[in-house]
Amino acid sequence: MSTATPPSDPLFTITCGKCKGKFPFDDWCKTPVNGELPSNQKQCPGCQHSFTIERKGEAKVFDNGFIIPPDNIIVTQPSTL
Ligand SMILES: [Zn+2]
Repeated sequence: MSTATPPSDPLFTITCGKCKGKFPFDDWCKTPVNGELPSNQKQCPGCQHSFTIERKGEAKVFDNGFIIPPDNIIVTQPSTL
């Protein structure tokens, strides 16, 4: 009785919003030719749609110490081979 997943299974997958392809997270962090992407950049292994996740605005800090972090926005980037 084991609940462990086989090592060949990717930890989790991301579904592309453009081509609807499902790919392991690691494959989003590299390109077919040049390898590693900058750490904040992701690229779809299927359709090469490329983007970064960037912060918009400043964190808001209230007098009682409560903090609202800035919004994350998706910025489309030129694809890399
Ligand atoms: Zn795609």
